[in-house]
Amino acid sequence: MDTELFASRWAAASTRLAQADADALVVRGGSDLFYLTGYHASSMERITAFVARPGSSERPVIFAPQIEVPLVPVAPDLYQVVGWTDDDDPVAMIASEIGSANRVIVSDELWAQHLLGLQAALPDAGFVSLSDSVGGLRSVKNDDEMARLQTVGGLANQVAAQLQAGEIPLVGRTERAIADDITERLLAVGHDTVEFCIVASGPNSASPHHHPGERVVQQGEMVLCDFGGRHNGYCSDITRCVWTGPIPDDVAATWDVLQKAQQAAVDAARPGVTLSDVDEAAREVIADAGFGQRFIHRTGHGIGTEVHEQPYVKPGNDDIVVAGHAFSIEPGIYIDGQWGMRLEDIVVVIDDRAIRCTTTDHRLISVNV
Ligand code: ZN
Ligand code: ZN
Ligand code: ZN
Repeated sequence: MDTELFASRWAAASTRLAQADADALVVRGGSDLFYLTGYHASSMERITAFVARPGSSERPVIFAPQIEVPLVPVAPDLYQVVGWTDDDDPVAMIASEIGSANRVIVSDELWAQHLLGLQAALPDAGFVSLSDSVGGLRSVKNDDEMARLQTVGGLANQVAAQLQAGEIPLVGRTERAIADDITERLLAVGHDTVEFCIVASGPNSASPHHHPGERVVQQGEMVLCDFGGRHNGYCSDITRCVWTGPIPDDVAATWDVLQKAQQAAVDAARPGVTLSDVDEAAREVIADAGFGQRFIHRTGHGIGTEVHEQPYVKPGNDDIVVAGHAFSIEPGIYIDGQWGMRLEDIVVVIDDRAIRCTTTDHRLISVNV
């Protein structure tokens, strides 16, 4: 266990939480616990919780089911571990650890059942989520994390390049078969796991989160591929589209709008602007071309140890972009019943700009396979 890494993460988080007036923090097992301790707790109904008093020198406590205590990394300098048995009431134990806190910050992944129990046990305390109080624990990446995102992005990039080079057979195959093929390729280039793979053909491409199915890809249509995996704990996520055969003029012209919109958002992303400014940069280009109603989702999401995490690049998000943010920029245009298109890269934000982790050709490529 890298004690120094986790000590520095908790020190930074503790300071931020104290600045947000948190008297106590309750993190349920999940990505935030993994980030703070390197421990992947079971995600079942028995609660594992990291409970701490930000800004104080008191050691945090991990409450874990007694049967899982042997799995918790031993790190007495970082935290103490308290096991609870099936005869215990873990929520009451957590509540008594929190004691008289006025403001309790809880992880977004804390189950409603446990939060309701804490609220009943601590009627005078106010509760607020990590994302609403400090924008999440994991949103600002250090150099090592950014390097991992660049590396894993490079892996996904290789498979996107294979798609564009016509190395992945499309016409006559089902979406499911193509998705299986892409999944194998993502592993072959070095991902540890594949997290998702969307292959949406023809009219299905107008459904942004389409589940690949039995539809057979035809000549002369859109094939939208959005996929990613994990390597060294960090995630990739890329979308590229290809057209089977010659590209119709109206599709080519619309892609041109999409590509300009994506570039505008990448150009806009830098420390000091708001996340909604980045969203607006893409949205404006698409709206000016008359497709405003066809861009039916946010411009992007943060990425790190999870495919989707803070910060979210969307209208109304006035949080400020800072160096260390990593997020997707993925505008799309969707025409129901005909086709949809999306262009997605992950960027990491440095001092004065955003750098793409994925760089494969940004054009709509015509393939004949
Ligand atoms: Zn998505
Ligand atoms: Zn994606
Ligand atoms: Zn994405």
